[in-house]
Amino acid sequence: MCRHIGWLGAPRSVASLVLDPPQGLLVQSYAPRRQKHGLMNADGWGAGFFDQSVPRRWRSDKPLWGDASFASVAPALRSGCVVAAVRSATIGMPIEPSASAPFSDGQWLLSHNGVVDRAVLPLTGSAESVVDSAVLAALIFQRGLDALGETITEVGALDPNARLNILAANGSRMLATTWGDTLSVLRLPDGVVLASEPYDDDPGWADIPDRHLVTVAGSDVELTPLKGSV
Ligand code: GLN
Repeated sequence: MCRHIGWLGAPRSVASLVLDPPQGLLVQSYAPRRQKHGLMNADGWGAGFFDQSVPRRWRSDKPLWGDASFASVAPALRSGCVVAAVRSATIGMPIEPSASAPFSDGQWLLSHNGVVDRAVLPLTGSAESVVDSAVLAALIFQRGLDALGETITEVGALDPNARLNILAANGSRMLATTWGDTLSVLRLPDGVVLASEPYDDDPGWADIPDRHLVTVAGSDVELTPLKGSV
């Protein structure tokens, strides 16, 4: 399914995370290395970042590789907290900019890599799109990000076929879950990267085991098993 990436640390350009790395999101949009579901991520993309404490987003329903305007501007967008994604739409889901991650409640930026049966999700009435990921994001926002692990465990129990890899950040904290898909972490001297798959061959990348909650604050990276993990 989709691929996402997050950064928490010293300010750096969005391009340095998304476009420049040899296996970054741009390359992952047409040639992901670890994608388990779907072949490519051509159904849209989104780049979100915090500007002071304000989340800002640029989203599209077109392939990332075709966006010359983003390629031109992304080197000039600098932030200490970034959440970006490329999308492979689940069958039956709308393809529109508002269905591309990151989703936001005005405080958090959130991406979902996976699939969930919308019928099991409690209604919230505030989703940005009818896409499953936006409905799930609205539920997570409503419950609060402090309850992310509990919410994912609960949704996973309601829909045993769900894949629920979440990546979220609010400018000072970054959270992620693994539930059915890949996630890797890279700790750099000036910050932490969480990504669906490594964007280069740095030996520092480490795989996060399935069914875990990852909490990043400053340079601290904490892993907590989620209920149902093996
Ligand atoms: N189900 C979501 C969508 O259709 C996410 C898909 C994915 O992770 N590839 O956009």
